[in-house]
Amino acid sequence: MKYCNVLILDIIHSSIDRPFTYKIPEELSHKIDIGSLVNVYFKNQKVNGIVISLTNNLNGLDDAKVKKVSSVVIDETVITAELFELGSWMKEYYICPLSKILKIMLPRGLLLNYVSKYEYIVNFNYEDLRNAKIPGNAKKQKEIIEYLEGRSEEITLEDIKYNCNCTKEPVTRLQERGIIDLNKKVIYRNPINYNELPDYPVKSPTQEQKSVLEFIFRDIKETSGKNIKPVLIYGVTGSGKTEIYLHLIERMIREGKEVIVLIPEISLTPQTVSRFVGRFGRSVAVIHSRLSVGERYDEWLKVLRGEVNIVIGARSAVFAPFSNLGMIIIDEEHENAYKQEESPRYHAREVAKKRCELNKASLILGSATPSLESYYHVKKEDYEITKLKKRISDNKVNFKLVDMRKELEGGNKSIFSRHLVKGIKEAIDDNGRVLLFLNRRGYSTFVLCRSCGYVIRCPECEVSLTYHKKADYLRCHYCDYVEPLMAKCPTCKSKMIKSFGAGTERIEGEVKKYFPWLKTIRMDVDTTSRKGAHEEILDSFKNKEADVLIGTQMIAKGLDFPDISLVGVVSADTILNIPDFRAGEKTYQLLSQVAGRGGRGEKPGKVIIQTYTPEHYSIRAVLEGDYEKFADKELDGRKSLGYPPYKSMIKFEIKGPSENWIMKQGKLMFDIIEGIVSEINKTKSEQIEILGPYPCPFYRLRGDFRWHVIIKGSNLDDLKKRLFINNLDEFENKLSESERLIVDVDPISLL
Ligand code: ADP
Ligand code: ZN
Ligand code: ZN
Repeated sequence: MKYCNVLILDIIHSSIDRPFTYKIPEELSHKIDIGSLVNVYFKNQKVNGIVISLTNNLNGLDDAKVKKVSSVVIDETVITAELFELGSWMKEYYICPLSKILKIMLPRGLLLNYVSKYEYIVNFNYEDLRNAKIPGNAKKQKEIIEYLEGRSEEITLEDIKYNCNCTKEPVTRLQERGIIDLNKKVIYRNPINYNELPDYPVKSPTQEQKSVLEFIFRDIKETSGKNIKPVLIYGVTGSGKTEIYLHLIERMIREGKEVIVLIPEISLTPQTVSRFVGRFGRSVAVIHSRLSVGERYDEWLKVLRGEVNIVIGARSAVFAPFSNLGMIIIDEEHENAYKQEESPRYHAREVAKKRCELNKASLILGSATPSLESYYHVKKEDYEITKLKKRISDNKVNFKLVDMRKELEGGNKSIFSRHLVKGIKEAIDDNGRVLLFLNRRGYSTFVLCRSCGYVIRCPECEVSLTYHKKADYLRCHYCDYVEPLMAKCPTCKSKMIKSFGAGTERIEGEVKKYFPWLKTIRMDVDTTSRKGAHEEILDSFKNKEADVLIGTQMIAKGLDFPDISLVGVVSADTILNIPDFRAGEKTYQLLSQVAGRGGRGEKPGKVIIQTYTPEHYSIRAVLEGDYEKFADKELDGRKSLGYPPYKSMIKFEIKGPSENWIMKQGKLMFDIIEGIVSEINKTKSEQIEILGPYPCPFYRLRGDFRWHVIIKGSNLDDLKKRLFINNLDEFENKLSESERLIVDVDPISLL
């Protein structure tokens, strides 16, 4: 073909979200195919583009004006036909330009056109070496032959140059004589130190694990070639879900299939990774955000080149460019981390479901606290369910609920109840260790003037600032604004400035107060921002360098330490009080997860939950360990209020620095959407609801004022189609540089 149509990736705008035609130069013709990544000039700028189609036809364009493709970035096709189809689906579903979607499917290193490093491997056989006829004066060549004769391992050109103290020249002579051969091999930047990771031997499955495996295998077999229903593995924490995943992977690999395992970013700890790499070694590529750009790119290359057949990674690993995908496993499928909070605002679980449909692959969802979405699908019989009810350790967890109102009445003003203090003491005396959980970092939650009631707020966000004691400053947890703690109230000049509420930093101090001899270690955003810090903290806790681990949700997931005998939840109310329709679900999930960290070894686990609302059904359900009861109640509530999973939602947000102007734009946006909605509603009996425009709960964030319009309906496909081609583009074009329109399909929260 003479021409190709290229979608530009580096300049994202809906007005150019279409292919542009370029000439294929003769010398590149064998390299360019549909799905190739090329460099082209667009508006005098060299940019990345994806070849969407090939053609011999110019469709009326003037040949002289059609520019040439400048180069092909790598030889392989980077967007396979299947990923292209997936992307086209995402474009419509998430109302997002295709170029933006294809771009996030690719690693940044590729888009930055990183060049792979190569080395030369020396290939030879001993017979050729022995029979070699080398002229007497070619001493170096003889020396090289001698060196090679004693080697059985892989030898590189660099090895020879170093060991025989020579240049490349004598090696090239030997190659010309046909005695040795040089082959180019890519050197990957390797994020995993395979030699350091211990084997993770196969465990023979328990009775429960066996029946889950049989259920899934039967399902795969019976439906082979047809669309397979997703399977939800509902297994309490510590019931051995990971072992099930490992068995499933083993089976898929044996059948020549490839597997993607998604883990929430936060749980992608060395502990988790080592289980997969420890079992499958170099067949595994790992993709997560703590890798360098180069490492990530190389892991992706291994997948593209078929050098691995398992990928374990965070959200974006769902786009791993496999060509024979057999299964996607999503661990902790209820996690919000699977939703991307910037455009394209996709949910990896939904994308995985689509990708499995396209590949006739199996989707396996695992959780101890399934999302209401997945549970709802089970109820509707769109998904299958299989359960693991027993923990491997067979230990019961004993719960103790502490009503903090009663503590206060009893004269205890501390953030630790008497039960918690006693619990810590007992656990330590019994050679156990303690985990203390509070979903809030810093020292206090807000700082207030006791004379006039003034609360110190972020000048950019209108949220209260958090005091950080060690760093000794006030910090905004939304925009990272920092200021020193003032000595006097800025309004009434009183010195009665005091901090209230507790964060993880204060918990640490509180433990020290009661038990000065105990060693504590804290894990939250503040202590883990440095690269490698996360691993160091876990290692040090593993090596028993601390008795008490204190942390935010970072410690709620994935940790498997057998000697944790007490889990203390300092406040169960932090999430419950967030004004959001998912607050109850999040509370149930987080508390169950953190409770599951205890009692994993010989000792039974004890969990102490402190709360001001002990009667709340989310908290009660945690104690009863009855997910289904909780989920049924929560679903009833969602149904009567018309929330997901019964209704789909789209959240439109408009934001910018000028308060009046943004309010006007919010109203304009509402009018546009309302126009389309009322058109659709005329033709349907089921009405789409439109709410707003109203100021967001966080009205001001990072200096921007924010307005929302929210759409609810059972089926929003029509609306999405019309929004796409209709006025939304026009509306967006009118916005200035500092203003933004955000379209969030299936938003996680309405904040
Ligand atoms: P989950 O992911 O369901 O919370 P894990 O997979 O972490 O549970 O398993 C809990 C513990 O039980 C781990 O230490 C794991 O190594 C161990 N385990 C899992 N399956 C078995 C088995 N069949 N036999 C022995 N130990 C097992
Ligand atoms: Zn004051
Ligand atoms: Zn702020």
